[in-house]
Amino acid sequence: MPKQPPEVRKHNFNEVALGYTEEQALEEASRCLQCPQPQCVKGCPVEIDIPAFIKLLRDGKYEEGIKKIKEKNSLPAICGRVCPQEEQCQKYCVLGKVGDPVSIGRLERFLADWERARGFNIPDKAPPTGKRVAIIGAGPAGLTAAADLAKLGHEVVIFEALHLPGGVLVYGIPEFRLPKSIVQAEVDYIRKLGVELKLGYLIGRTYTIPELLKERGFDAVFIGTGAGLPQFLGVPGENLGGIYSANEFLIRVNLMKAYAFPEYDTPIRIGKHVVVIGGGNVAMDSARSALRLGAEQVCIVYRRSREEMPARKEEIENAEEEGIICKFLAAPTRFIGDEKGWVKQMECIQMELGPPDESGRRRPVPVKGSEFLMDTDTVIIAIGRTPNPIIQRTTEGLAVTKWGTIVADENGKTSLEGVYAGGDIVTGEATVISAMGAGKRAARAIHEYLMSKK
Ligand SMILES: Cc1cc2nc3c(=O)[nH]c(=O)nc-3n(C[C@H](O)[C@H](O)[C@H](O)COP(=O)(O)OP(=O)(O)OC[C@H]3O[C@@H](n4cnc5c(N)ncnc54)[C@H](O)[C@@H]3O)c2cc1C
Ligand code: SF4
Repeated sequence: MPKQPPEVRKHNFNEVALGYTEEQALEEASRCLQCPQPQCVKGCPVEIDIPAFIKLLRDGKYEEGIKKIKEKNSLPAICGRVCPQEEQCQKYCVLGKVGDPVSIGRLERFLADWERARGFNIPDKAPPTGKRVAIIGAGPAGLTAAADLAKLGHEVVIFEALHLPGGVLVYGIPEFRLPKSIVQAEVDYIRKLGVELKLGYLIGRTYTIPELLKERGFDAVFIGTGAGLPQFLGVPGENLGGIYSANEFLIRVNLMKAYAFPEYDTPIRIGKHVVVIGGGNVAMDSARSALRLGAEQVCIVYRRSREEMPARKEEIENAEEEGIICKFLAAPTRFIGDEKGWVKQMECIQMELGPPDESGRRRPVPVKGSEFLMDTDTVIIAIGRTPNPIIQRTTEGLAVTKWGTIVADENGKTSLEGVYAGGDIVTGEATVISAMGAGKRAARAIHEYLMSKK
């Protein structure tokens, strides 16, 4: 797929991947074997009929193609850009056994972009059921549950704490991977399905869940509040100036538009030598954002080896092409400040890999006496996120795990009647499509619950 050249893109926040041309999309679609028992579908958490949409695309029936995708997925332009397809549908494509799998995500993106450029078709909805559902959180889980429930004829209201809908899609993932205008367009489509969005409503504070059910007239609630609390390393010096959590850094860049300086003048410190701790998508996004904001050198420090890095392969390659350095098998042990309290150095220890841990990846073990120093003036910590506890604390009887995630079954049913949950708030930090799959299954279960209720 065409991309902005690294030398150009590392100085701007415009989208890196430019998308297929019509000719490229048709050529790629023609590679699909139209398998009678398609393995690719098994890898799709929202159950898109992949061969059917690819065939429609191949036959030039773009409108029917996007309609086929949207039977299952209300956010295709988003998924076509950020889904880890290599770990999902494409991983199971039979062509992958002998060569390159079909680029299913890029084809999805092509059709979604084609439709967006022409205006959305709004599908027919079921007749009104008279039931009302409150969705908490406008991230991919909440948006998907809302869209599916609205199509089934329910009245749906989303309560979102922030002033913008989209969840991590707007406050975490940077513009150069997922333009905000695309998220807004797909959210507008969900609004056109009849979903009402109430922004600036912090549930647990503005209303509690019992209030929504007993006083505000909702028949069911879906909790899709994600995992928005940053984790820290717990090493000395971590509260020195110049050390950010990735959450804070990316929110300043994305939501508060530090990238659009001088139009938006958000305070942000971009030093000369930026160090990012972590190896996932969040670390990649932080590192590439820091580079675009003017850092001279950006180094990612990860405690395992390249093979264990959880970030999408494509994004690791993009980061390296842009000049980001990766230092593997190293972990910070302390930060050293200057006389004014700003970070100036980071002490690390060399690691080696032991046997696999509970995550299935090989456990990093410190090598005794191997400490070394790195100069740095800005550090971004991207080692994971946990749920915000506000809902759990204000909802009596809601079962919660020791990690603060909400206990829910496969269909999102929680310990409370009429209360469902899904996405990162149940699984811990995962992916956009897994959050959407959870929203979809919960919508189905909520529908059954509401229709069986007198
Ligand atoms: C920087 C970054 C990059 C990522 N890159 C990728 C990627 O490339 N591909 C991928 O698949 N995944 C990626 N992920 C992970 C993915 O974005 C998440 O797994 C996904 O967004 C989870 O969706 P969700 O709907 O459960 O929660 P979220 O997206 O977190 O949305 C939750 C929403 O709920 C709102 N909320 C929270 N509490 C309340 C409350 N009490 N009342 C009202 N509203 C509330 C929040 O403001 C937020 O808008 C990335 C994550 C980050 C942080
Ligand atoms: S497995 Fe691959 S080749 Fe077969 S239908 Fe799916 S995308 Fe096409």
